[in-house]
Amino acid sequence: MRKPPSGRGVPLSGLFVSVLVAASFSVTAFGQSRIQISYLGNAGWQITDGKTVILVDPYLSRLKLQTPNDPVLADDKRPTFTRDDIAVSDEPTIDAHIQHADFILVTHTHVDHALDVPHIAKKTGATVIGTESTISYARASGVPESQLFTVKGGDDLEFGAFSARIVPSLHGILRRAPNTAPNPGPPPPDVIPIDAKLPFRLRDFAEGGTLAYLVRLNGVRILAFGSMNYIEREVKGLRPDVALIGAMPERREIYNYTARLLDAIGDPPLVLPTHWDRFNVPYGVSQQSAIERLQSFLAEVKSASPRTRVIIPEYFKPISIQAQRNNPAQRK
Ligand SMILES: [Zn+2]
Repeated sequence: MRKPPSGRGVPLSGLFVSVLVAASFSVTAFGQSRIQISYLGNAGWQITDGKTVILVDPYLSRLKLQTPNDPVLADDKRPTFTRDDIAVSDEPTIDAHIQHADFILVTHTHVDHALDVPHIAKKTGATVIGTESTISYARASGVPESQLFTVKGGDDLEFGAFSARIVPSLHGILRRAPNTAPNPGPPPPDVIPIDAKLPFRLRDFAEGGTLAYLVRLNGVRILAFGSMNYIEREVKGLRPDVALIGAMPERREIYNYTARLLDAIGDPPLVLPTHWDRFNVPYGVSQQSAIERLQSFLAEVKSASPRTRVIIPEYFKPISIQAQRNNPAQRK
């Protein structure tokens, strides 16, 4: 039997968060930890207590396309996608990494968040939770109606295995449009229409509004964002144990982004940056430039909340978390 990894406790202002990084995912590796969080790239995460598997914005296809922050890689031998091309999931890559899922939480329906949701939902039977646009895309893609759950933002839902507060949020400000072309054509739609039909071109993936999720699983509270913005009054007082915070440079378009957010949510013990990697290259390509780009975000966290720990996640490498708050009354 696999020996649980030893943990390192980090006492933090009345909180105790033990963060363990296991070599590979295994139910027996849970040991005393309560949940494991694994980074899937871009804004994608797997959160599990060893029984229930929750995915957030799982996007494993990592299509070769121009993004606001990264050009395509010349050495990348895969086909290049433009906004006029039909978007196709990389099913072999998804299947190599995702075997089980019970719930899929989607923050918004841009291609780099939503594309792979239908394939994963169909293969796992997972319930898809998201905006009307998310549900319209999933339905158009053949996900059975019984697996679709529309949320508006403001809901606080009990799913038995876990609960989730659906947090109204905002998308980051994209001053440099993705897939910039000499003739970009008409502006993208705001939402994916309810009668949408396949195939979807990249340009059809409308944002459809943006949500964040406060997930409560096995005593641990994880606040997950999928973009570089938030509504301060909607997150104020949430006090998560772990915050997944969008860290791409677009955050600089938002006034005092990092400090204002950390203050609003009570300086969480652990921050995991999300939406920070170069997500238009395969998993094996070096992320050194993205890690360098991320350093300014780490500095912002350190300056705003010196006792908050930040871990730069590695793909598919579980981070085990046990969180206990001394004052349960503070928990929401
Ligand atoms: Zn987006």
